[in-house]
This record gives sequence, C-alpha cells and structure tokens, in this order.
Amino acid sequence: MLGLMQPHALMISSILTHAARHHGSAEVVSRTHENTTHRYTWRDVEARSRRLVRVLQKLGVGAGDRVGTLAWNGYRHLEVYYAAPGMQAICHTINPRLHPDDIAYIINHADEKVLFVDVSFAPLVTAIAPKISVKTIVMMTDPEHMPDVSLAPGMTLASYDQLMDAADDDYAWPMFDESTASALCYTSGTTGRPKGVLYSHRSTWLHAYAVSLPDVLCCRATSRVLPVVPMFHVNAWGIPYATALTGGALVLPGRHLDGASMAAILNEERVTLTCGVPTVWLGLLQHLRATGERLHTVERIMTGGSAAPPLLIDAFRDEYGVRVEHGWGMTELSPVGTYNAPKVAQVGLPNPDATRHMLKQGRILPGIDMKIVDGDGKELPWDGVAFGDLKVRGPWIAGAYYGDEPGSALDKDGWFATGDVATIDPDGFMEITDRSKDVIKSGGEWISSITLENIAVSHPDVAEAAVIAAIHPKWDERPLLLVVPRPGRTVDKASVLAIYEGKVAKWWLPDDVVVLPELPHTATGKLLKTSLRSQFRDHYQKA
Ligand code: ADP
Repeated sequence: MLGLMQPHALMISSILTHAARHHGSAEVVSRTHENTTHRYTWRDVEARSRRLVRVLQKLGVGAGDRVGTLAWNGYRHLEVYYAAPGMQAICHTINPRLHPDDIAYIINHADEKVLFVDVSFAPLVTAIAPKISVKTIVMMTDPEHMPDVSLAPGMTLASYDQLMDAADDDYAWPMFDESTASALCYTSGTTGRPKGVLYSHRSTWLHAYAVSLPDVLCCRATSRVLPVVPMFHVNAWGIPYATALTGGALVLPGRHLDGASMAAILNEERVTLTCGVPTVWLGLLQHLRATGERLHTVERIMTGGSAAPPLLIDAFRDEYGVRVEHGWGMTELSPVGTYNAPKVAQVGLPNPDATRHMLKQGRILPGIDMKIVDGDGKELPWDGVAFGDLKVRGPWIAGAYYGDEPGSALDKDGWFATGDVATIDPDGFMEITDRSKDVIKSGGEWISSITLENIAVSHPDVAEAAVIAAIHPKWDERPLLLVVPRPGRTVDKASVLAIYEGKVAKWWLPDDVVVLPELPHTATGKLLKTSLRSQFRDHYQKA
C-alpha cells in the first residue's frame, strides 16, 4: 500500500522559491571581477534566475541540454546554478584549473549548448576556442567590461548583462520528475581522463538537507556562510543550495582568495562560517599572524578536500578562538560524505587529544552508509586500527559516470568504491589512511603512505613529503620517502628516519629517502603521486 501524502517532487527550483518567499530579504553578497561588492537578496536571485531561463531559451537551450560554466563563486554563477536545472537543463560546472586539453575534452564530451565564462577566463577561452564544439559563449559581465576574446569561425560572443536586460522574468517554474538530471561535474582526473558525475534534483535536495544538519555545517537563517570551495568543482560543498534552504546569507568571494582578501571579506561581511581547502586556511593564518589582524565574527572554519593539518586546528583555536571542523567528500558524493562533529565521548577532550580526534574525517551523514573491506571484499572491524578500501552507498552517491550504463560504477552489492583507504573507530569516526592506489603493499601487509608523510613533515628540516610504493624484489613493494627541504635547510636522511622511532612498526620504515627540490601537484593542489611513481618505481631495483 502506498502512503497518502502529497506527491510533490523535490525540485531545485523549490529550494529557491522557498528562499525567496520565506527569506526574501536575506543577503547574497559577491566580490566582483572588478573587486567591487555586489549585493542583492534571495528574492532577487529567484527573479533573476527566472529571467535567465528566458535567456537560455532564446539561446536554444532545452530540456536535457548542458549549460557549461567556467566561473568563480559569484552571483551570476549562482543564477546559472538555479536557472539551468529549474528549466530541466543541466548546469555543467567546469574546473578552470585543469589542463586546457582536459577542459576542451570535458566541454566536447558534455556537448555543451552554451558556455558561461567569467572575464578572468577570457584568455583560456581564446586558447581552447579552436578545439571546442560549443557555439555560444556568454561572458559574465556588462557590455562595458567585455574582454577581448578570439573565437573560432561560427562561434558567437554575448554579454550576460545585456542578454538579461533584454529578457522578461515571466517564467513559471515547472514540476517534473525529481530524478531528472540537474548538474554535471567532472572529477579532476588524477587517474586517466576526467569522468562526469551527473546529479539529480532529488540527490541535490537530500544532500542539501544533510549538509545543513547541526552536526554537519549547521546552516541556519542567522548564518552568514562564505564558501571558498569553488562552485566550479564539487558544487561548493552544496552551500549554494543549503543556504537557500535554510535562509542564511551567502557570501561569494570571487577570484581573490589570498590571506589578506579573505580576512577583509570575512570581517566586512560578518561571516560566521567559511568552508574550503587547507591551503586557503594556511594562507589566512599566515596573513593574520603577520599583520596582527583578528577575525571578528567567524565562529567556524570548515576544512576538507585533503587532510586537515594539525597546525590549523591548534592555531585557529588557541590564537583566534575559531573552531576548525573537518569533513570528507568527493565529486561522486555530491560531495559531502562524512563530517567530524563530537559524540558525547568526545565532548571536553583535552587539547592534544581533541586535535588528534579532529584529524579524523568524521561520521557518515545520515541517509548514506559506509564500510571498509579487505582485498577479498570482506568487511573489516570498526576498531580504529584495521584499514581497508572505503565503500559507500546512498541516494546522493553516483551509480555510474556520465555516458556509462546505470549502476556500472558499483560493485555487485551496490556499493561505490571511493578509492580511499580508511579505518573506522568504534564510535563510527572514519579516518583516511591512504588512496587505494597509493597504499604500500609490503609482503602482503599494507603500509599507510599518509601516516609516513605526516611523520616526515614533523621533522624541522622537511617542508613537504611524499611516500610512494617502489617495487621490491623480496617484499613486492617497499615505502620510499621523497622530501623537499625547508628553504635554507639541508635534509639529513638518517635524522629523518630517526623520527619514526616509536611512532610506527619497524617494518613500516621507508627503506630510503630521496631529497628533491619540489614535488608535483594536481590542478586541485593534491600530490601527483602517479608521476612520482613512474619516476621512482624502480628505485629499489636499481639499488
Ligand atoms: P579529485 O581529487 O580527483 O579532484 P575530488 O575533488 O572529488 O577528486 O576529491 C576526492 C578525494 O579527495 C577523496 O577521495 C579523498 O582522497 C580526498 N579528500 C577529500 N576530503 C579529504 C579529507 N578531509 N582528508 C583527506 N582526504 C580528503
């Protein structure tokens, strides 16, 4: 028997109409390309998104068409976020930090109808224009600030504001199946070509609910939230939806993400919660320490995307009274999967233990589930020690990549392998110990490269460290430590190896240390271990 409740589909447009109707005067603030401040309200976002639908229709966009964006976090980007799915089209955010060849590949693979581009990316568009199939480029600016762009024959260029001025806002949001595709985002391709993750209205709604919960981002009508995490990658952690859903203010920082700009906007816009990757927070910390500036309204800084450095947690808590919170996710998870908020047992932990605990990536969000398995797929215990492949399942987790058969990204029981290796403790807190392709398999046992890297960077002469699996004639693989010295220092191999004493089992010790001037990174700032592996894989064979 079916329930007798009203059959309202979970539409992204109804997140926005809720914000406009019930939180109409709540602010959306943007730093523009010209470094001015643009202010309007959720009521304006809704009206302008309807107007943008008329623009899209005029440009020939229809249901199911892909609408690409190459843009920073700003109000015009937000309007595309809502207008495209609201009219049954798909908002396809593209990461401008990728290699131009990958960007061209993604644009062609998604078969974009229109491309919306921030002024900063005009040179990028000129560079890839001969290689891309899209015909209409809309620069997200007014006619006075149109940049020089050379396009390929047959392509047209338009100004966003000009198109908007000429359009009506008489559109009415339609209702349709909540499983309709709403947005597309490609993973940045640390392994092979980028793959598209295709979200739905339903998955976006459920994810927005879950990230708003008190033990996750705790979004409320009084919150003023600044996502540094880009809208062009991983949906800005769902914040453009969560703030509208809960009626909070949304502050969009544009392209200036250095420490000084961040401190200024956080204070000027009275931000209470801000979210981004550790690099941004390290930049902010450096700026605050150097200038003596304070943060006046920020209560919480959420860090994710890569492991949280302990220094961040300690420094912001002890020097600025700001709580650093840690979450984990990935493009395939919409993106948030776990968040580290205390249970009763963790409340009031003394500082070194509190920091240690906050290094864990956290508890699963309600609605989805996780498990860790060994090489044979057998579930491992939640003892905080055993580590294995982390698998997840639930309604905001991808089942297949764009263009592939439904379900093709899942194992036979319907679980998605994250590619991360993790432990889970008895309280359900997950901690990543590795990427599965980076874990070192020595004599049938696994060694965590991340654990070894964290210990290496605690050495006073070491600025950055990577540990990779090098092929070994006896043990299959053995850890090799690659380090970059701090400026003006030299690294003594024996003294680096000595700091492992008592911290890990003897057989975990790297067999050798190589000193390098720098380490390679991906477009999203993560260590590019594939290139290190191809360079140093045979290190122990040569020895
Ligand atoms: P890509 O790295 O290809 O751009 P994502 O942005 O989706 O893809 O990144 C997802 C990966 O980032 C996760 O699988 C995990 O390895 C890593 N990651 C995300 N958050 C954290 C975190 N808090 N701690 C450690 N690793 C993290």
